[in-house]
Amino acid sequence: MKIAIIGAGPVGCYAAFRIAELFNIAPTIFEKKNKSQKPCSGLFSKRILDFIPLPNYIIENKINQVEINFPRKKVVVEFNPKLLVVNRKLFDDYLLKIASLKSKIVKANVKSINTKGNVFFGKKRKKFDIIIACDGALSIVRKSLSLPDPEFLLGLQFFVKRKIKSSKAITWATENGFFWQIPRKDKIEYGIMESPQKAKQKLFEFSKKLKLKPKNIQGALIPIGPVISPYENIFLCGDAAGLCKPWSGGGIIWSFTAIEIMLKYFPDIYKASEKIRKIFGRKIKIYKNLSKFVRKINFILPPKIKIDTDWLFQEIHAKI
Ligand SMILES: Cc1cc2nc3c(=O)[nH]c(=O)nc-3n(C[C@H](O)[C@H](O)[C@H](O)COP(=O)(O)OP(=O)(O)OC[C@H]3O[C@@H](n4cnc5c(N)ncnc54)[C@H](O)[C@@H]3O)c2cc1C
Repeated sequence: MKIAIIGAGPVGCYAAFRIAELFNIAPTIFEKKNKSQKPCSGLFSKRILDFIPLPNYIIENKINQVEINFPRKKVVVEFNPKLLVVNRKLFDDYLLKIASLKSKIVKANVKSINTKGNVFFGKKRKKFDIIIACDGALSIVRKSLSLPDPEFLLGLQFFVKRKIKSSKAITWATENGFFWQIPRKDKIEYGIMESPQKAKQKLFEFSKKLKLKPKNIQGALIPIGPVISPYENIFLCGDAAGLCKPWSGGGIIWSFTAIEIMLKYFPDIYKASEKIRKIFGRKIKIYKNLSKFVRKINFILPPKIKIDTDWLFQEIHAKI
C-alpha cells in the first residue's frame, strides 16, 4: 500500500513513524522546507510522553501553575499533570529523525492533490492509495478539495533574554485569547493568541504595560476547526484539520490523539474521519462557547482551580 504524507511537521512525522511501526509500511513524506521554523511555545502536558518518549535535552522547563489575569480578577490554575516546556525546534528535529528511520522524506512543494490519490508537483505527479494531509494551517490539500477553512486566530511570540527560575506561567486575558509569559531555560517567552485583526495591536499594548521592547516577533495562524475530509482515501490532520484547542491554541496532543484514532480504523480512513468529526466537532464547539462564557463570568471563579489541560483527552481515549 502506497501512503503519502504531506508535511513533515510534528503531526506528519508522528503519523509516519506510527504507520511504519504498526503496519510495517514505509510512507513517503513530502516536505517543502529545509528546516523547522514554526513559532510555537512547545507547552505540552506530560501526556506527550505517552505518545512518544522525549529526550531530556529538548525539555527546557516544567510548569505547574498559571496565573490568569482577567481585567478584574486573578485566578491561579494548577496543572495536574504538569506541563513540559519543550524546545519546539529540537522537538521537530527529533520527530523528523525518528520518522526518517522508516519513511522516505522527499523535499517537494506539493501544489495540489486530487481525489484519485494523485499528488502534483508542478507538472509531475505521483499516485498513492492514501494521502494523509498534515500540511499546516493553510493546507494545500484542504484547498485542493475545496473544503472550508477553519476559523483562524493568530499566534505571535518573542523572547527576552533573562534567566528566571520559575515554574509559573502568567497570562492576561484578552477579548478572544490571551497574552502570555512563559519562563524558559535561559529566556522568557512572551506571546499572544488573538484574532488576526487585533493580535499585533494587543501584543504592543501589553508589551508597553510590562515595559517590554518586542524584537524579532514571529507568528503563525492557529486554526480552530475541525475540517474533516469526506473522502475514503484522504485524511486531514493537525493544523490542516484545525485540531487546536480553542482555549489555549495547543494542537499537538489533540492531533497525535487524532492520528491514534486513524490508526485504530486504518486503512478505513473514512470511518476514522467520521469518528474524529463526531468527537472533536462537538467538543470544539462546546469549548469555544465555554471559553467565551468564562471570560464573561470570570468574577465568579474561585481564586484557585486545579485542572487537567487535556481534560478532553481521557474521554477521547476511552472512545478510541
Ligand atoms: C505562537 C504559537 C504558539 C503555539 N503554542 C503551542 C503550544 O504551546 N502547544 C501546542 O500543542 N501547540 C501550540 N501551537 C500550535 C502548534 O504549533 C500546531 O498545532 C502544530 O505545529 C501543528 O503541527 P502540524 O504538523 O499539523 O503543522 P505544522 O507544524 O505547521 O507543519 C506543517 C508542515 O507542512 C509543510 N508543508 C506545508 N505545505 C506544504 C506543501 N504544499 N508541500 C510540502 N510541505 C508542506 C510545512 O513546511 C510544515 O513543515 C502554537 C502555535 C503558535 C502559532
